[in-house]
Amino acid sequence: MLNLKNFIDYVEKQNPNEPEFLQAVTEVVEDLIPYINEYHPEYADLKILERLVEPERVVSFRVAWLDDQNNIQVNRGYRVQMNSAIGPYKGGLRFSPTVNLSILKFLAFEQVFKNALTSLPIGGGKGGSNFDPKGKSDNEIMRFCQSFMTELYRHIGAETDVPAGDIGVGGREIGYLFGQYKRIQNNFTGVLTGKGVQWGGSYIRPEATGYGLLYFVQSIFENNDETLDGKVVSISGAGNVAFYAAEKALSFGAKVITLSNSTGTIYDKDGFTHEKLVYIAKLGRNLAEFPERYPSATFHAGQKPWQFVCDIALPCATQNELDQQDATTLISNGCICVAEGANMPSTAEAIKVFHDAKIAYAPGKAANAGGVAVSGLEMSQNSIGQQWSSSKVDERLKHIMANIYKTCLRYGKEKDGYINYLKGANLGGFIKVAESMKAQGVL
Ligand code: NDP
Repeated sequence: MLNLKNFIDYVEKQNPNEPEFLQAVTEVVEDLIPYINEYHPEYADLKILERLVEPERVVSFRVAWLDDQNNIQVNRGYRVQMNSAIGPYKGGLRFSPTVNLSILKFLAFEQVFKNALTSLPIGGGKGGSNFDPKGKSDNEIMRFCQSFMTELYRHIGAETDVPAGDIGVGGREIGYLFGQYKRIQNNFTGVLTGKGVQWGGSYIRPEATGYGLLYFVQSIFENNDETLDGKVVSISGAGNVAFYAAEKALSFGAKVITLSNSTGTIYDKDGFTHEKLVYIAKLGRNLAEFPERYPSATFHAGQKPWQFVCDIALPCATQNELDQQDATTLISNGCICVAEGANMPSTAEAIKVFHDAKIAYAPGKAANAGGVAVSGLEMSQNSIGQQWSSSKVDERLKHIMANIYKTCLRYGKEKDGYINYLKGANLGGFIKVAESMKAQGVL
């Protein structure tokens, strides 16, 4: 019999000073351990959980590069290859000064379950660097990416490990990383996803995480015979995920009232239009300037969006951006659904508030799986040398999100009828990985 407290103590002892990793593991094993004890005691004998929390491989390396003043800069690069039971490692690269091993291990761990939920043959990994792309010139970004790939190339491959983008790594960075890989290996292959559509990328990949998030939210409402038409939506972040989530929410007839970044939050009482979103994209990080052109909006420096009254909250910025107090405010303002575009944006205490209030809470590992799902489709297209149309990729994305929703429903329905999507996602993802590990022997 597995004991929850003993297991968490064990993980903490093995991984000291890694609070985010411990948080992600705790969130999962709280659901898995009772399930294993009741239905699959053999997983305890096979030490499946102990093996799951130990990355198969962690690579850490020096990234030295020259800035525009010809000064030498040194950063640290990482790749965490967490689990390859169901396919090659797959997961994004994050470039941010906040990157450390704890954060990458939590992201890689989450990725294992998320990728399993997509039903595609992809394992879990994550990587990145403490490099800060903000304020860097194009040439500096290119030199950094080339130096990063000059080490990373030996650890990845189309059938070994296929990185993608994440915070701070978009189409431009993927281009530089791919170019350097190709130059070193003399091999044009699907080793990265998020590529440009002219050179091996998939249509709908930039949109996929935000769109997929809204498809998942739509399923939640449809399950209650409701639609998103007229619902008020609050979104955090103003990056890739936040933008396409906002666009899709508008297309479903919802009213989106906030976007944010690390400088603060724009609140628009009239809601954003497509035209306003295009303008925000033009402003870059200068969100404070938005109200000058659109007086229906106000800018709240240094504040998060969760104080504004909404039906649906979509945290799409970063981990632990929504805490217990934010959750309490959302609930008292009548919010009925929180769905995560970001990875682990809600703290453990916030999740408890959502569950206690019995509102719909959709965790990132299920709700934001659309991005990696279309990355998986990009790998399929690369391996057969084809490119599918936007509508075909979007159809497949909808189908995958609907299946993830069904999996969450199947494993997450409580005795009182409440749907615990977190439990559903944890169990649904875990079973596939655990059975594969069991079949492949002691590794
Ligand atoms: P981007 O880099 O495109 O955008 C991130 C946005 O979040 C920026 O607006 C950024 O603002 C804001 N942000 C970051 N940190 C903070 C903070 N501490 N406080 C307030 N705002 C902050 O990243 P993505 O949109 O790609 O990713 C967002 C989240 O979604 C991440 O958690 C990522 O792991 C997750 N995700 C992304 C996927 C994808 O396909 N891109 C797939 C699945 C999950 P600023 O510019 O001021 O820093």
